[in-house]
Amino acid sequence: MHEMSLCESVLQIVEEEAAKQSFNKVKWLQLEIGVLAGVEIEAMRFCFDAVSRNSLLEGAVLDIVQPDGEAWCMPCGKTIPMQERYQPCPECGSYQLQVTGGDEMRMKQLEVE
Ligand SMILES: [Zn+2]
Repeated sequence: MHEMSLCESVLQIVEEEAAKQSFNKVKWLQLEIGVLAGVEIEAMRFCFDAVSRNSLLEGAVLDIVQPDGEAWCMPCGKTIPMQERYQPCPECGSYQLQVTGGDEMRMKQLEVE
């Protein structure tokens, strides 16, 4: 399950921030995970609970925002909305699409104590 390693790297980033900014408890954090990032949100929450135990993330509220996917269709020459990878262009049915948004995964905000 790669959500587990994602959560571990989130914890690592938070620990680095904690060392820099000297805080020892996180109250709330917000992650941005695009719909095309290939991340299972339920699994992410489950792993987050496991990873946060006995760490400075313990008890922190996890907020996940999911930006919509977006792709560039070469035959149409325009940007189209995309809900999942490997779907055809809704306008022309082409698969010559280049994902331009919604595949990001990053930490957006952190509220500490
Ligand atoms: Zn198209």
